[in-house]
Amino acid sequence: MFDETLKWPFFDARHRELKALEQFAEQDLRSLIQQEHEGADVYAIAPQMVSALGTAGWLAHAASLDGRLDSRSLCLVRDILARRSGLAEFTFAMQGLGSAAITLFGNDEQRRHWLPGVIAGDRIAAFALSEEEAGSNPADMSTAAHKDGNDWLLNGEKTWISNAGLAHQYVVFARTKEGAGAQGLSCFIVAADNPGFSISASIDVIAPHPLGSLRFTECRLPADALVGQEGDGFKIAMSVLDVFRSSVGASAVGMARRALDHALLRVTQRQISGASLSSFQLTQDKLADMATAIDAAALLVYRAAWVKDVEGGRTSRVAAMAKLFATEEAQRVIDKAVQLFGGLGVVSGNPAERLYREIRALRIYEGTSEIQKLIIAGQLLRNHAESVRS
Ligand SMILES: Cc1cc2nc3c(=O)[nH]c(=O)nc-3n(C[C@H](O)[C@H](O)[C@H](O)COP(=O)(O)OP(=O)(O)OC[C@H]3O[C@@H](n4cnc5c(N)ncnc54)[C@H](O)[C@@H]3O)c2cc1C
Repeated sequence: MFDETLKWPFFDARHRELKALEQFAEQDLRSLIQQEHEGADVYAIAPQMVSALGTAGWLAHAASLDGRLDSRSLCLVRDILARRSGLAEFTFAMQGLGSAAITLFGNDEQRRHWLPGVIAGDRIAAFALSEEEAGSNPADMSTAAHKDGNDWLLNGEKTWISNAGLAHQYVVFARTKEGAGAQGLSCFIVAADNPGFSISASIDVIAPHPLGSLRFTECRLPADALVGQEGDGFKIAMSVLDVFRSSVGASAVGMARRALDHALLRVTQRQISGASLSSFQLTQDKLADMATAIDAAALLVYRAAWVKDVEGGRTSRVAAMAKLFATEEAQRVIDKAVQLFGGLGVVSGNPAERLYREIRALRIYEGTSEIQKLIIAGQLLRNHAESVRS
């Protein structure tokens, strides 16, 4: 089905060339993926994955010195990697998410300083927006940066930060103006060895994933740590999420494809009372639903990526639709795979069991499904009000 996807009119020849990543993942990442699936420490394997992806040039699709990100490439890479490995996909995605504010809004000097290491896979990146009291609504954040001469002093705590403890550099959002809500936020780059920066906790989740909390205590940043203008933070964060939310959908599509791959293998091998499990119509009902959901999700994902690349501007509604539908449907597809595996589907380490845990967080991070619905409905209602007025 992926080969059919590549023929869709959303893509150019350069996108179709990304098919080569399938072979790279299956050969060059094989040993790391095997270690991941055998339960090796993700903090040990993730840097090796980043390095392998960077050395082979794949991270050039996650960050770029020319200030542009190609959404379709980002989505295709995540789709291909997620079909094979949750961790390979995560490490690729985080190099992009953790540096996109610099790619899209940084000045030339910031891009030249902070991005080459990310693209080469030598430096790991992270994105620090969420706080304990500001997850779904980042405008409520309390981490604050105050001017001190030409410098900034950063104080506060972030949590749920992917790559916490592994990253060499963090894009951090902080309040620079009290009482100004979303308009009072700014975006900074913080190196992990900056005095005043520390990791305050690491967080264990159901699908192993480097994750933790950050603390900033009188963390002194130079003036050129500010990305964009003072007060641009919310706009930068939402613009980055516009690009990355569709690609979370692509990751969900890749995981759903992996579930269908394993389910097809299982139902064609499993014999029940002398008949192949695949010959039962109730099995075929599930397979048909799984395949249809995957294609529908992929259409929404690649539509959103095409709109971003070709029409440009803010694409919050189509990105929200792609993330919402693809992640919710992938959860259902994977649940069907678990069911088709029978008891084996809930045995630790079974591919369906692993996917069942891996998919869950995608419906929560980068905006929960409920928040995506609020974005979609909010825009519908605004458009309706405008059409009534005019
Ligand atoms: C594995 C993982 C990795 C993550 N990585 C990162 C990262 O790298 N960087 C980062 O900054 N953050 C990261 N996050 C944080 C993530 O984006 C937040 O968890 C998410 O935005 C939800 O915030 P919350 O956990 O505070 O939930 P809450 O905001 O407390 O939400 C709880 C529930 O309330 C619902 N809800 C909230 N507001 C409304 C509303 N107005 N109407 C209806 N329902 C509502 C939500 O949908 C949810 O179901 C990560 C989270 C996870 C789980």
